[in-house]
Amino acid sequence: MSQAIKEVMDQVTSRNPHEPEFLQAVKEVLESLQPVLEKHPEFIEAGILERIVEPERQIIFRVPWVDDQGKVRVNRGYRVQFNSAIGPYKGGIRFHPSVTLGTIKFLGFEQIFKNSLTGLPIGGGKGGSDFDPRGKSQGEVMRFCQSFMTELYRYIGADIDVPAGDIGVGAREIGYFYGQYKRITTLFEGVLTGKGLTWGGSLARPEATGYGTVYFLEEMLKARGESLQDKSIAISGYGNVGTFFIQKANQCGAKVITIGDENGYVYDPDGIKDEKLDFLMDLWVVHRRPAKDLADKFGLQWVSGKRPWEVACDIAVPTATQNELDLENAKQLLSNGCTCVAEAANMPCTAEAVNLFLEKQILFGPAKAVNAGGVATSALEMTQNSMRYSWTFEEVDTKLKSIMGNIYRNASQAAQDYGLEGNLVAGANIAGFLKVAQAMLAQGVV
Ligand code: GLU
Repeated sequence: MSQAIKEVMDQVTSRNPHEPEFLQAVKEVLESLQPVLEKHPEFIEAGILERIVEPERQIIFRVPWVDDQGKVRVNRGYRVQFNSAIGPYKGGIRFHPSVTLGTIKFLGFEQIFKNSLTGLPIGGGKGGSDFDPRGKSQGEVMRFCQSFMTELYRYIGADIDVPAGDIGVGAREIGYFYGQYKRITTLFEGVLTGKGLTWGGSLARPEATGYGTVYFLEEMLKARGESLQDKSIAISGYGNVGTFFIQKANQCGAKVITIGDENGYVYDPDGIKDEKLDFLMDLWVVHRRPAKDLADKFGLQWVSGKRPWEVACDIAVPTATQNELDLENAKQLLSNGCTCVAEAANMPCTAEAVNLFLEKQILFGPAKAVNAGGVATSALEMTQNSMRYSWTFEEVDTKLKSIMGNIYRNASQAAQDYGLEGNLVAGANIAGFLKVAQAMLAQGVV
């Protein structure tokens, strides 16, 4: 680590104690930038590193609401507007009891580089709350979302900051947010993405993160002269990303053999397809039921209290949440013959796990690149809203596929340009950083 990078890392560490996820995300990016700074000392002189690790704005607010028993409840809301050098802040909102400011900062920081990699004009931001939507009634969720937006509306706008969904926030919550935003501001504008199709949403947005992950995987495999045909894949989370991932992976001839939630996983050596996939599609999004229902319904094996990384597979795709795949899991995957890992969730592999994969030189796709299809399609939704027009599913899907191909090529080219051939972690960080750093440089000290 160079002196300049070390100084910034020390400052971030002392300024952001108790935020391990944020520090993990920053460290990974800064470590990748060493060769870039050697070539571009102007970034150091202009204080780009010190500035890029400090959010432009962090908003923390009270979210009071009344539950079905008439009791007043209070949660904490966040929106971190991290970087607007290349476009309006853009990033999802996460509702999960584990959410803290540090979680939102790590996600917002990652979003800067991910959004830059898409090649589209979107800055980085993220929001959320420690609200737990599980076990809440429809009315409670609606009142919570309305209360959240009653504060958030003053900081966002179609050209300012455009939130979307993330864990715990799907089409239902986006609908409640949108209704409340419109009611307060009277504006019918593209202030949120992931909207319903009849009120400004984009075709292929629900599918985009899962499909984009498959398109990226195909590019990675192609570079090694392989394809998804007949590959066995282990995945974890069964939400929006996981289910659409399975749909597209099946179309490519692969077999997805695990899926689960925080309680365990389903093992299906025949592959989750046909009526099993149809059942799974509605399991969380419509019924909000646990993953075990899939095993119960079709007589499949349910492995309680474990992660799926213990099964033998060709490819592992963590689709759940941060740090869900650790060093032990990584060792187990490798010893079982896994030769490719693609991060569909945000920062799902621990730093130690990533380092092992890089050291063993298996194919490793980092989250910023692999899962960028979701936010890229959100940017396409913004484009359609600006035009007051909608593209067909095929038009959006074709654009998504070409964006994922470009991300792969740009990340691998950047790795090669800076002497790190084959290291897509460094390549994605470098390619994402360069565009933002150049924009920041051009815009002066702001
Ligand atoms: N939450 C998604 C992500 O992590 C999507 C964000 C968006 O569409 O703005 O990238």
